[in-house]
Amino acid sequence: MTRHWFDWAATALPLKEEQEHCLEEALSFCGNPSSQHSEGLAAKKFLEKMRSRAADALALPPSELVFTSGATEANQIILYSLLAREKHSALVTSRAEHPSTKAAALVLERTGYPVTYLPLDPCGRVRQEALEKLVERERDIRMITLMAVQNETGGVSAFGELIPALRKAAEKRAQSLHIHCDAVQIIGKLPFNPAALDLDSMSVSAHKLGGPRGAGLLWSRKELSSIFTGGGQEKGLRGGTENLFAAAGIAAALGRSLEKESIATGYHRACAHEEAILGNLPPTVSVFPAVRSLRDEAFSPFIISLKHRDLPAEAVVRLLDARGIAVSSSSACSSSKGRRDVLEAMGIRGEDALKVFRVSTGQSTTERDIEALMSTLNDL
Ligand code: PLP
Repeated sequence: MTRHWFDWAATALPLKEEQEHCLEEALSFCGNPSSQHSEGLAAKKFLEKMRSRAADALALPPSELVFTSGATEANQIILYSLLAREKHSALVTSRAEHPSTKAAALVLERTGYPVTYLPLDPCGRVRQEALEKLVERERDIRMITLMAVQNETGGVSAFGELIPALRKAAEKRAQSLHIHCDAVQIIGKLPFNPAALDLDSMSVSAHKLGGPRGAGLLWSRKELSSIFTGGGQEKGLRGGTENLFAAAGIAAALGRSLEKESIATGYHRACAHEEAILGNLPPTVSVFPAVRSLRDEAFSPFIISLKHRDLPAEAVVRLLDARGIAVSSSSACSSSKGRRDVLEAMGIRGEDALKVFRVSTGQSTTERDIEALMSTLNDL
C-alpha cells in the first residue's frame, strides 16, 4: 500500500542521501575532537567546519552556536542556565510550549523560581498586552521563553511586534531580559531571522528538516552557564565527546532547507496544500481553531489541526493509518500521554479536545498525497 506522510511536524522524512554522506564523512575521522594528536585535530577541524556551515545557513556567527542532542536539550540548557544565578530570578513562558520547555519550567518552579505561564488567545498565541504589563510590573523577570510556531495548531507568534514591546518594557525597569525562542517549527519553513528580531537565543532540531534524529543546535548571543558540564566541550555548555555525524547532519539539513529559493518554494507549495485541505473539508470535519481562515498569516500553512464531528482523534488516526495515511492525534511528545494541555489552554475542553487531530505537510508532500487524504477523510 502506498503510504502518505502527514506527520512532518513530528519528524520530516529523512534526506537519506545527505544523511548517508554525512555518516560516511563523520566516520572517516577516527580521532576525538579534544585530542591533541593529528587525528584529534582533524576531527576538531571537521567539527568547526560543520559549525561554520550551519552558521552560514542561519546567517549567525559560528562562535554563538552550540551543537546539542536536539531542541529538547537546547531548550533545557537555556532554562537551567537560570540555576547558575545566585538569586531566584523569574521565568515567563506560555501554556503553548513544548513539553521540553514546560518540564524544565516545572523543575525551576519546584526549586523555588517564580514561573508565570501566560494564557493563550483563541489562536493559541500569548496576549501581548498581558505580557508587556507583566514585564513592566515584575522587576525580577530575567527570562522569557516562547515558541515561534506552535507544534500542534501551527499558530505563529507575532515576534515582530512582541519583542520590541518587551524590550521597551524591560528598558523602563532598567534590567536585562533574556528572550529565548523555540524555533523548531519555523526554521526552514517560514522566513525567520533571530538576530534581526533581537532574540537572545533559539533552539533548532535537525530531524524536523530531514536531518538526523538526536541532533540539534542552540544559538545564544549571550554567555551562559550550564549544569550540563563535563569535559568542557561546546564552550562548557554540554559536556561529552562531540557527535560528528549529528553536527554534519544538522549543517547539511540547514543548508538544504534554508536556501532562499527553497523556503519561498516550500512556503508557496504548503499554502497551496493548505488551501486544498481547508477548502475541501467534508461536512464532518472542521478546522481548529475555528477562527483560522484560508491563507491566515497567524498560522503556519505546514501545520493544520482538524476536528471530526463524531470521532475521537485516536480513532481518526487509526482509521487513516489503515488506509495508508499517517496523521497524528496531537504532538508526538504528548500523544502517548493522552494530554491536550495546549488545546485546553485555548479554551477547548474534554471530549472536544480529544477530537482534534493534526495534519502536517513538508518538503515532499505531493498533490496525490493531498487527494488521498481528502478522499479518505470524506469516506470516514
Ligand atoms: N520544540 C518543538 C516546538 C518541537 O516540535 C519539538 C519536537 O517535537 C521539540 C521542541 C523537541 O525537539 P527534539 O526532538 O529535537 O528534541
